[in-house]
Amino acid sequence: MTIRPRLSRREMLALTALPAAAVCGWGFRQFAGSWSEATINDSRFDAPAQPLPDTPEINRLRWFAEAIEPLYSKMPSPEPDDWLANHVEFGQSFAQFMGGTREKLCHRYSKICLVPIGDLSDTQQQLFADTAEYLQQFFGYSVEILEPAALDNLPEPAQRVRASGTKQVLTDQLLNEILLPRRGDEMVAVVGFTASDLWSGDFGFLFGQASMSQRVCVCSVARFGDVDAGEIDYATCLRRTVGVVAHETGHTFGLPHCTAYLCRMTGSNHLAESDRRPLEFCPECLPKIWWTCGVDPCERFVRLSEFAELHQLVADGKLWRAAAARLAAVETRDR
Ligand SMILES: [Zn+2]
Ligand SMILES: [Zn+2]
Repeated sequence: MTIRPRLSRREMLALTALPAAAVCGWGFRQFAGSWSEATINDSRFDAPAQPLPDTPEINRLRWFAEAIEPLYSKMPSPEPDDWLANHVEFGQSFAQFMGGTREKLCHRYSKICLVPIGDLSDTQQQLFADTAEYLQQFFGYSVEILEPAALDNLPEPAQRVRASGTKQVLTDQLLNEILLPRRGDEMVAVVGFTASDLWSGDFGFLFGQASMSQRVCVCSVARFGDVDAGEIDYATCLRRTVGVVAHETGHTFGLPHCTAYLCRMTGSNHLAESDRRPLEFCPECLPKIWWTCGVDPCERFVRLSEFAELHQLVADGKLWRAAAARLAAVETRDR
């Protein structure tokens, strides 16, 4: 029997509702050892420049990132309730990621596994299936659905009922007891999907939570709207769902929160903030996925634009189509 270490609080990263630096202060802890407190609190702070490796593969990814950059907006000053108004984070460039990166994940792992947790209605089952398809196109990994996990016999400390009457499940329980034991050596990530509302520690509720070191994450659709209220509500709910799933899975692939652009890897404090972000990663975060997943950037944009068209994700589809066209132009120029 293999005994795996349990997740510690400091390993957790969250897309969450209420600020609590103990859970989402990953960037602070990561970099605090390298720079002084005075530097950390300096609003003009910039990470030291780090060159990218000068190889044909990396240069191609860098040209692609430069080609799509005009399609993105730089991160604006946060609103008072937004994530970055309440958390100290520095982001991470593609060069910084490569500086700390050792081996491509696609050389070691072959699939993402998705686990339905607890009861799902028929429409939520459809949401789950669409999310599986999206994950496959987004990360370029095959996605396998594992046996559903029940929530029938949770221990008392792993469940609670809030004053509002909302029942909640403790994320730590799902990550440690349901997802981590299912993680096989060939799995790059094990992603839990549930309709139950989540909480952990001081957080009133969570949309999702991930462990970067253990490669497990869990996402909840409980607060994403009524999937049975019609096509438009389904599309809204689907966008929120695939957004949080890609964000949390991105953490399991080693990506911290982004501070450079309006980007899916930015932390979100509330639903309106999350809704403002594109579904796609930005020109600093996206090359990390291209590289570590070994996915072809052009084909990926085309597949995602087709997914968007099928599911009425209009603005995101426009971005993916424009990005595909820009990469095609780079390829033609370089021939
Ligand atoms: Zn996060
Ligand atoms: Zn980003």
